Parts: sequence; structure tokens; C-alpha cells
Amino acid sequence: MKFPSSDPLKLDVQALAEQGGSLAGAWPLAELPRLADSVLQGTPVNWRLQGELRQLPGGAPEIWLGLAAETEVALTCQRCLEPVSEHLAVDRWLRFVAGGEEAAAALDAEMEDDVLALRPRMNARELVEDELLLALPLVPRHAVCPQSLPAGADTAAPATQRPFEALASLKR
Ligand SMILES: [Zn+2]
Repeated sequence: MKFPSSDPLKLDVQALAEQGGSLAGAWPLAELPRLADSVLQGTPVNWRLQGELRQLPGGAPEIWLGLAAETEVALTCQRCLEPVSEHLAVDRWLRFVAGGEEAAAALDAEMEDDVLALRPRMNARELVEDELLLALPLVPRHAVCPQSLPAGADTAAPATQRPFEALASLKR
């Protein structure tokens, strides 16, 4: 099946929702420059978008976009200043409404869900990047910093070092 809204950078959210369609892929971290600037390094961002119409009794159907993404990034530990690996994962639904930014802002203020203004073309990569930036830890740090290990502990790597090894192996 071919969707007219298959370009995530020019996504027709309404069409995707009406079709109940989904898109998925991976972007190199460099294509998300704000996130790339916020981390030391990272793996490609795996992402998935799901459109959905939610029919409520007595009203027009609501337009929703499910957004899921994950990546493994290295940040600077705020305790020892060595790199620390963090798994970033987001999975949420955004609601889109017609009527421009004002209508979206008014609904957003009174609803728990995030409400965005529906536009003919949305850059879903920027939406994904926004969510991943929000998922960054405010104060990244190791559960146990490598330097604080007692001498001789390097023969058996502690569990806290394994995420960073996993990142290194992903990059190979
Ligand atoms: Zn540390």
C-alpha cells in the first residue's frame, strides 16, 4: 500500500490518521542537529509514527499521531566528567486540531494530552527530536562512577559499565 504521506519530513498527519497508516525508519544522529549538539555521540535514532482517527460520540473524529523513538547516547557524567551511556526512549501520542496555533494552545491548556496545530505538512523529525531532547536526563551520571571503584575491580567489569560497552559495540 502506498501512502501519500510517506515522507516524514513533510508528513500529512491528517491523511496518515485517516488511513491508520504507520511509518518507521532510522535517522543518523547528525540529522537531528539539536540532539547531536546535546550529546557526545549516539547511535542512529530508530523511530515509528502511527496515525489514528479517534471517533467520539457526537463529534468529529480526533486526529492523533503516535510517536515512538529510541537511541543510545553518550553524555558527560556530572560527577566524574567521564562519558556515561544513556538509553533514550519516547513513546507518546500527540493530538492535532484544525484552527491554527491559537485553537491548539487553548485546547492544550485544558487537556492533559499535548495538542498541536494541524498543518498540511509537518516535519515529524523535528517532533521526534523535541521529544528526545525532553527525555535527556537533567543531570546525567553513572550509577557508580568508574573512578570510585576499588583497585583490582577492572578484572570484572561492573554492570554499570556495560551500557557503555553496548554503545561501543553498536557503533562498530
Ligand atoms: Zn561518573
